[in-house]
Amino acid sequence: MLVILKLDAAPEHVSKICEKIQSRECTAHVIPGAQRVAIGVTGNMANVSRDDFLRMESVVDVVRVSKKYKLVSREMKPDDSVIDVQGEKIGGSALQIIAGPCSVESRQQLHDIAGPLREMGIKFFRAGAYKPRTSPYAFQGMKEKGLELLDEIKKEYGMRIVTELKDSETLEQVLATADILQIGARNMQNFSLLEKIGQTCKPVFLKRGLAASIEDLLMSAEYILSQGNYEVILCERGIRTFETMTRNTLDLNAIPVIRATSHLPVFVDPSHGIGIWDMVPPMAMAGVACGANGLMIEVHNKPEEALSDGFQSLTLKNMKALLEKLKELAPIVGKTLECK
Ligand code: PEP
Ligand code: MN
Repeated sequence: MLVILKLDAAPEHVSKICEKIQSRECTAHVIPGAQRVAIGVTGNMANVSRDDFLRMESVVDVVRVSKKYKLVSREMKPDDSVIDVQGEKIGGSALQIIAGPCSVESRQQLHDIAGPLREMGIKFFRAGAYKPRTSPYAFQGMKEKGLELLDEIKKEYGMRIVTELKDSETLEQVLATADILQIGARNMQNFSLLEKIGQTCKPVFLKRGLAASIEDLLMSAEYILSQGNYEVILCERGIRTFETMTRNTLDLNAIPVIRATSHLPVFVDPSHGIGIWDMVPPMAMAGVACGANGLMIEVHNKPEEALSDGFQSLTLKNMKALLEKLKELAPIVGKTLECK
């Protein structure tokens, strides 16, 4: 349910409504917007009715939200959510690029990649310290040492760090380093982990599961928002289909569908989506063309020596060439790409 208030609703009216919602054992979510203030109500709807709120001060209307997902829906919040990550905006008209290697492999490797990316004007650096791998015998990441190295990168280059959270045991550690917590495809439906990060105030980058529908992805985001963390960025990274010539099938349909149904920013990860380095740039362009708020791209200084996902990683030179093309494309789709 959504309680819609006048734009200039007095704070004490907002508090009174929230208190009433809580007294009915439901949760109140205050959603400020450009046109209106709204209070989302989640929990057992049998405890509340429209009439409970209709005559309260500042209330304009009370509406039922028809979708299964509530807080992530555009019905709840018509305006795009814009997430501020240490002064850099994700969502709205900014086109943001998150780039870096699949995994942290060594200090030298990180510097050799982050330095040139920073020079290109990239503000978000990605690399996994904890890697959830399909095989238990594959490289599992540098773990704590990897996080320390990412801290160094953050200090030296002023880049914002996006790194994966694999389990709740490492939450405190990863929170201390990450500016954005990445939840990988394999954990998209780890609901207890989603609830835990919903109780933090760290932005979350939530990747679509290998066999998850768009609605599944939105419901997973709802788990995070339902706990009070509204800073979620969705990511289309390809799904499993019968196709065998590419690693995954990048479902670009998801982008306009999510843009229409949710206010959350949505990114495309063409690296995992297609899995073949020389086909990453066209799919990156396609992602931007269909409305993504940003891209996550795997970049490596020596892709042939990478400990994970080398085959889908762009060299620094190829990343630079892609940025040149994106610079031309961005204004055509009403986006601004700040890079050199
Ligand atoms: C990654 O970003 O390196 C990764 C493991 O992605 P996904 O969870 O989408 O497979
Ligand atoms: Mn990877």
